This record gives sequence, structure tokens and C-alpha cells, in this order.
Amino acid sequence: MRIALDGPSGAGKSTVAKAVAKRLGIVYVDTGALYRSIGLYVQRKGISKDDKENVIACLGEIQLDLKFVDGTQIVLLNGEDVGGFIRTGEISMYASAVSAIPEVRTFLLETQRKIARENSVIMDGRDIGTVIIPDAEVKIFLVASAEARAERRYKELIEKGEECTYEGVLADIKERDNNDSTRAVAPAVPAKDAIFLDNSNLNQEQTIDKVIEIINDKTEVKKKPKKKKRRFYRVVKFLLGKIVGFFLGVRVKNKNKEVFDKPFILCANHTSLLDAIVIVIAMKNQIRYMGKKEIFKIPILNLFIKAMGAFPVDRKKGDVAAIKKTLEILKGGECVGIFPQGTRRPYQNPRDTEIKEGMGMMAARAGVGIVPVYIKNKKGKVKWFHKNTVIIGDYISPEEIAFPELSGREKYKAIADYAFDKVCSIGEEWKDKK
Ligand code: C5P
Repeated sequence: MRIALDGPSGAGKSTVAKAVAKRLGIVYVDTGALYRSIGLYVQRKGISKDDKENVIACLGEIQLDLKFVDGTQIVLLNGEDVGGFIRTGEISMYASAVSAIPEVRTFLLETQRKIARENSVIMDGRDIGTVIIPDAEVKIFLVASAEARAERRYKELIEKGEECTYEGVLADIKERDNNDSTRAVAPAVPAKDAIFLDNSNLNQEQTIDKVIEIINDKTEVKKKPKKKKRRFYRVVKFLLGKIVGFFLGVRVKNKNKEVFDKPFILCANHTSLLDAIVIVIAMKNQIRYMGKKEIFKIPILNLFIKAMGAFPVDRKKGDVAAIKKTLEILKGGECVGIFPQGTRRPYQNPRDTEIKEGMGMMAARAGVGIVPVYIKNKKGKVKWFHKNTVIIGDYISPEEIAFPELSGREKYKAIADYAFDKVCSIGEEWKDKK
């Protein structure tokens, strides 16, 4: 999930973003800190903030890196943690001036996009919804009157011991507003599809609640879809079990470990195209598969798998539609089948595959458990006329995979690895068992 939180200085974006990131277990990225760090470098070199040519010349000497420690962002300017120097009134004005230079914006573009590509983020800035992540799932433009913002900033600065007057702070804010919203590149204007939130009359808590409400509204499944009784699925399952099951020699172990009353993600090792069929035969729950989009292009087969409740995923990109569909299915009480190895790996020890974190993200976001399943076969893959055994593992509850100390991608990866480790362990436990 990517949330773009834009708006003028002092609207309270960072406080809101920090709180939201904590609640949703995603990464908070403060992009203003990047512009501030460049401003600091320029100021330290004694270059005027309006000396465009020399500011651009500085860029070649600057290496900016972002690190996240316990969810807190640290900016390293040529290796130095500059967090303690970039929040002054003077550096704010430097940041505002250098941020109007197109070369500075280009310099910072990829750093910001890379973080958004690799993490679930809430990013605060001025051009996040328009330039950095134009396809963000949620875009919010947070505003407040200049007077309300000046009052908050004034109090903040006084508490920090900075000498200032309310009038001075208000004038600075108005100047920054003007710089930021009228500059030629990436002006601080709301994206067309951004939701406007004015918090002049809201306190911090109320603003946070309102933002969470907007995010939920945008990303949540609106109404609980009805659990469909798939008659076609049941008939096919019956026929598969009787006919195909016989030729595939399907046997099921630990049938009693099935979970009947709650939705879950079924996660299995993947060696053959027949895996999905073997699992349909073995499991009492209806399993809806996420399948690569290419198989949905094959005529007739396409109709069949769709009628069985399967849905496509584009494995080459973060397929938001497929993720939404999965969440919708799980929240509607149905189960989803995933092969987290991503592709078939016949004749291979499943431990040797790198597991995709998508399964972890979906389990975490839907708040469901995972059922590990191991498909065992002598030949290294499911084959006709050979014994194929489906071993159902213990249900992994949402609490077991909560990993409260982790967030974002790290958490999703930990969940996926945990569940797939169970799959591999079942395989090892049953290696010599009949
Ligand atoms: O958000 P913050 O006040 O820390 O940002 C400092 C300055 O950096 C802003 O006044 C703005 O000019 C610039 N900025 C920007 N684009 C962003 C973030 C900050 O131009 N995405």
C-alpha cells in the first residue's frame, strides 16, 4: 500500500504520517528531510540559497541515504546523520529555495521512488501524489489556514528554545507557501484524485482519526461479499475425486487438521500443474486459486478455472487488483490457495527456493491464518499413475504470525518464510513415512 500525504508546511503531515505508519505497520518517509539536507549542505558551504548555479554544482558532492531504525527515518548526508541540524527555521528557507530547482528534484526523484517501490509507505511531501507515486492507492492533501499553521509552528519553535515571533513565523510560512505552490516544477498542488482535508479546526488526534478513516474508506472492501456456494466447484470436486483422483493415486493425510469455519490462505509446495487439482480433491474447503494471468488466456481452460473461482495475477508487477481480490475473498469467508514459490519447481528441494512475501502481506492485511500443505510424490512432481500424497499441516493462526516487532515488507517476508518453513518441515517429517 502506498499513501501519498501532501500539503503545505506546518499542516501537521509528519505527526499524522508517523501515527498512521505505526497503526498500519508501514514505513513513514519524510521527503522534506531530503530537501532540508541539501539545504543544510548548501548553507554549510556558505553558498546563497538563491545561487542556483552553485547549488546545482554541489549536487555532485552529495550522497544522501535513508535508513530506517525502529520505524524512524534517519537521513545520512555523506554518511553523517544530520537529523539534529535540519529542523531550524533557517534550513526550512534553504530547503524551500533549493527545492524549486529542477535539477535538485531530479536528483532526489529515484531515491524516493525506490523506497515506494520496495515498501508499503506513507510518504509526506509536496509532490508525492502528483510526481513521485502518481498511482498511489490513497492520496491526501492536508491543509490548514496559514494562521493556524503559524501558531502551531511558533509554539513548537519556542518549546525548542528558538528565538522567534509569531509574525515572523507567519511571514515565513506564507513565503514558503508561495515558493512551493508557484514554482515551475512539481508545485505543491493537490493531485486531481487527492482527498482534501482541512484541519484548521481539528486537533492532532482528530486529524489522525480522519486520515485513517479516509485510508480505510479507500482501501477496505466496502461490504462483506456473500460467501458463494459454488455448486460447479462441488460437482467438479466430486468428479475429480472419483475419476482423476484414482488415476493420480491421491491420498490425504491429517484430514482432521482441516479448518472448516474460517477463511485461510492455503500455502503449498509447487511441482506440477496438477498440484491445484490434487489439492481441490484433498481439501474439504473450497480453495480459490490465484493463478498466473497467462493461463487465463487459454480458451476453454480459462472458462473452467474461472468457474472454479480462480483469479489472475500478473507476477511481473505488484498487482494491486489481485491483492484486492484476495482480500475481498478472504474477508468474504472463502479460502485462497497460493504457491509462494511463484513457479513450478519439480525435482527440487523446496527449501532451496526464495519465497515471495505476497502471501505474508495478504495474511497480515486480511487478518487470516495460513494452512501449510505438502504434496509428496516419489517422482519429484505429481504424475499420473503414481502415488501422490497431500499432507495437511497445523493451522497457523494470525496471532502466531503477528510479528509485532516487524513492520512492512520485513513483516510480510517473515510471515511468508514462517509458513513455507512449515510446508518444508511437513515434507521432511513425512519423507520416510507412508
Ligand atoms: O516538509 P518540510 O517542511 O520538511 O519540507 C521542507 C521544504 O522542502 C518545503 O518547504 C518544500 O519546499 C520542500 N519539499 C518539496 N517537496 C517535497 C518535500 C519537501 O519541495 N516532496
